[in-house]
Amino acid sequence: MFDVQAIRRDFPILDHKIYDKSLVYLDNAATTQKPREVVEKIESGYYNVNANIHRGVHFLSMAATEAHEEARRTVQRFLNARSSNEIVFTRGTTESINLIASSFADACMSAGDEVIVSVMEHHSNIVPWQIQAARHGIVLKVIPMDEKGELRLDAYRELFTEKTCLVAVTHVSNVLGTVNPVKEMITLAHERGVPVLVDGAQSVPHIKVDVQDLDAEFYVFSGHKVYGPTGIGVLYGKEEWLDRLPPYQGGGEMIASVSFEKTTFNELPFKFEAGTPDYIGSVALAEALRYVERIGMDDIAAYEEELLRYATARLGEVEGARIFGQAAHKGAVLSFLIGDIHHYDMGMLLDRLGIAVRTGHHCAQPLMHALGVEGTVRASFSFYNTKEEIDAFVAGVERVRKMFG
Ligand code: PLP
Repeated sequence: MFDVQAIRRDFPILDHKIYDKSLVYLDNAATTQKPREVVEKIESGYYNVNANIHRGVHFLSMAATEAHEEARRTVQRFLNARSSNEIVFTRGTTESINLIASSFADACMSAGDEVIVSVMEHHSNIVPWQIQAARHGIVLKVIPMDEKGELRLDAYRELFTEKTCLVAVTHVSNVLGTVNPVKEMITLAHERGVPVLVDGAQSVPHIKVDVQDLDAEFYVFSGHKVYGPTGIGVLYGKEEWLDRLPPYQGGGEMIASVSFEKTTFNELPFKFEAGTPDYIGSVALAEALRYVERIGMDDIAAYEEELLRYATARLGEVEGARIFGQAAHKGAVLSFLIGDIHHYDMGMLLDRLGIAVRTGHHCAQPLMHALGVEGTVRASFSFYNTKEEIDAFVAGVERVRKMFG
């Protein structure tokens, strides 16, 4: 497959010592570390091609514009979108979903219309719809899950009515790791004439995503979770749908002409990119996508699956371990509790051993409610993690368990 030690050398932060212990970074679902190439791209962008884009006739502005638009084409190729007009740069998954929720509700929904979401959504795919519910009187319907943490497709089918306007569902759960059968769910929605938005925040870093094959109307992700910079993300939308939707924000670049009497809007994708975009971030994101492509998405998925299998077996040996999420198809996320040790205590004590995990509700309080817990400890893996790190993590968990007797 690939040489994990060589890969680790691309990520200088992984060599850090935390409280004099080797860092074991297992918080990759929250954000990933950045390879040298990405950081260097940001630095060289500011040093060599920094000028505001699109409106300039001078050399630097044209170079920066070309780099930004080339980054858009890189994202298009990465997702296998039909056209770069279908790639809108945003600040991240959250902003992409807010954009669609706002513009879609304005254009396509009225009081009583329904959006289907699932019980395992991140707050980013719940609250924007609730804001629109308060504004437009739209209704949220929720797909339940079974005890393994798989969405119940029988219940999903039953949720559709003549009022259903959109399905908005996560590809991979950030808590359970469940890889939802989004292709099948999209087909079921399309059979009923309903478009679909997929939250790809936890899928794009780990599995090959082909938006034409999936056929979702909208697909969104964050740069920082796929080894790119913070503050940049992507909204993919089918051209005919983006054309139908009104702008989300007003300002520079998203207009064709402005007068006090009448303003007309720019063509795609600029209609949705008001203001100066993060043209340094877009170029660094493209570098990150090329980086993971060089490693190979299939190899990444296979290696991380192996890490997950190993970690699940090892953690399962710890007395009192409860693992949340037993789906047949799972991403590299391990949520757990040990006996009645509070997730916070576990997280803080692991931290003292140099082990970074996340604790709490993971921005999925409705899911916590469904699981009957207040929070969990979550270890999430990347292709730069190793089995030795998993051993250190499990030894740490065991040590904390013994401390609590
Ligand atoms: N959706 C899912 C499934 C996530 O895991 C996250 C982040 O953890 C988000 C949305 C929000 O991403 P961001 O904060 O980058 O906008």
